[in-house]
Amino acid sequence: MLLSSTARLAARRVVSTAAFRSSARTATTRSAASADSRSSIMPLAVVAAAGGLALGASRMREEEKTQCLFGTGSNTEAIEEKFATYWPRNIMILFGPPGAGKGTHGPKIEDMLGIVQLSTGDMLRAAVSAKTEVGLKAAAVMKAGGLVSDDIVVGIIRDRIKEPDCKFGFILDGFPRTLVQSQALDKMLADEGACVTKVISLDIPDEVLEERICGRWIHKKSGRSYHVKFAPPKAMKLDNNGNPVLESMKDNETGEPLMQRPDDTPAALVKRLQSYHGETVPILNHYKPNGIVAAVNANQGMDGVWGEILKALKRSAQ
Ligand code: ADP
Ligand code: ADP
Repeated sequence: MLLSSTARLAARRVVSTAAFRSSARTATTRSAASADSRSSIMPLAVVAAAGGLALGASRMREEEKTQCLFGTGSNTEAIEEKFATYWPRNIMILFGPPGAGKGTHGPKIEDMLGIVQLSTGDMLRAAVSAKTEVGLKAAAVMKAGGLVSDDIVVGIIRDRIKEPDCKFGFILDGFPRTLVQSQALDKMLADEGACVTKVISLDIPDEVLEERICGRWIHKKSGRSYHVKFAPPKAMKLDNNGNPVLESMKDNETGEPLMQRPDDTPAALVKRLQSYHGETVPILNHYKPNGIVAAVNANQGMDGVWGEILKALKRSAQ
């Protein structure tokens, strides 16, 4: 991004006084990064975008353009408000079957763009653990690999995207999963003049998913994903049969125990893949005419997948 020197100075001022009070991460976001790193990322993203606009927008003098965008003081709260009020939200869908890598790569996109990842699966699991009304309704259907009702998940997302940490945008993981959900999403966004801006489709054949799903371990609080073979936690030890020792399965960041999801079984996976192909895949055709769907080959090493995601995130990829 080519920022003018004046804009760069203003950007530095904004970053150094960063008052983007990114709200504390909750169990419903998957990112592993700290709130501190978020607060320094968001201004950069906003400032960089603003710099781009400043360069191309008009024949205003550089200084005037900069003042118009960043103000003359160091009032970052007002700047935050300006972008939240006048700029479109960046609304992204991370799309793919169970095991494709949504939970692995979502937090990296979250950290890079400074927008929050919302996983309906994580939210529902939190509700099940807390034994809320929604959790009690969802528990059995989730364990069997079925889909929770559209009304419940649409209601969860409708409330969640009103939170302050969604004001610049958000990454949806595991939602929408049916055409009814995508239509409800479009409608709730249209009510504020917004729309989905990007769908990243992690493409992968079903055959490789059982190994991924059955070897997955998660840190429940953050949603961080590990794998016994492909992404083992640092503390992992194997017993004489080559199986992981339960007590050694600890989260890299907190040292807390990892767990295996009750629906990460071969039988539940068959059901999850059926609903993925039958009900979720048609969503791609719903968004394709908008030119916002970018395909990524998720059947390769994590670094290769991430490289393709980075390309897909760029505007030129459309
Ligand atoms: P999703 O959120 O799409 O269900 P995850 O990101 O949790 O999928 O990944 C499923 C499992 O596969 C995890 O154990 C993860 O560590 C592993 N995994 C993710 N991406 C890859 C990859 N490219 N190669 C090998 N294993 C992967
Ligand atoms: P995965 O990461 O393996 O794709 P998720 O964590 O997204 O799985 O979802 C786990 C389970 O939660 C799903 O199998 C389903 O029962 C329920 N669920 C999550 N999101 C939705 C949704 N948008 N609509 C219906 N059910 C959902």
